[in-house]
Amino acid sequence: MNNTSNSSKNEVRLALILILVTLLSGVLLQFGLQLYADRAASRAGTAIAVSVLDEIQDGFQEIRTVQDDAAERLANLPQRKQDRLDALQLDLLMVVSAESPLPEGYAPELDTVVGDYQLDARCASLCWQMMQDCRESGHGLPMICSAYRTQEFQQFLFDNKVYDVLWEETNDREKARELAATIVALPGTSEHQTGLAADIMDEVYPYLNEWQEHTEAQQWLMEHCSEYGFILRYPDGTSDITGIIYEPWHYRYVGGKFAREITKRGITLEEYVAWRRGR
Ligand SMILES: [Zn+2]
Repeated sequence: MNNTSNSSKNEVRLALILILVTLLSGVLLQFGLQLYADRAASRAGTAIAVSVLDEIQDGFQEIRTVQDDAAERLANLPQRKQDRLDALQLDLLMVVSAESPLPEGYAPELDTVVGDYQLDARCASLCWQMMQDCRESGHGLPMICSAYRTQEFQQFLFDNKVYDVLWEETNDREKARELAATIVALPGTSEHQTGLAADIMDEVYPYLNEWQEHTEAQQWLMEHCSEYGFILRYPDGTSDITGIIYEPWHYRYVGGKFAREITKRGITLEEYVAWRRGR
């Protein structure tokens, strides 16, 4: 009887232990699954958060790009306004030469550059600013030596040149006039009468000859003049086109837009005007 009773007690104990182990395993399994699920959810959450952050950053980038574009457009606004203004002032492109003299009585509105030197009011201060910036950059000492000329003054210069030639080279008056015209423009055919042209030399070399191109001031002016709306009007090797000798001192105002285009193409005013007409 005792043996039977002991054996049945053991069976009950075993059954209880089994039930306990089963319950414990269940709890542990549930806990483990929960932990796994939490981690998975957390990983998914992190992934979602990262993608949302990416989107936000993309959004910021877009805003920055739009802001940059707007800032650039704003910064270029005065330039673009000026370009449109230049485009409307086609007289800035007028070619004045022996073949196409100025209309009689042409009288530009003038403004002072410095001292007695005057230019067309549209470019007088730009010419002054260009020389000032050249000086301040430490590249030579630019000095204006000719600007707007009246018909009378051009006549005076031409007559003087005729006398020089008569004195130095020939007794033939007609030939003297022809020779003089290759050096000083006939009255009515000089760009200086437009008020858009200025002769600028370096104080360290105050001579108007080809060597002028080697001076520091000319090197700077040739590189930067288009930024002020000017071009070197009679470049080296273009006298067949312009009819004028190489003049590395004669700057002509055509406005910012046209100056940049002419400079970029490396052509003369005559070629640029012909190209525009043919467009
Ligand atoms: Zn000149």
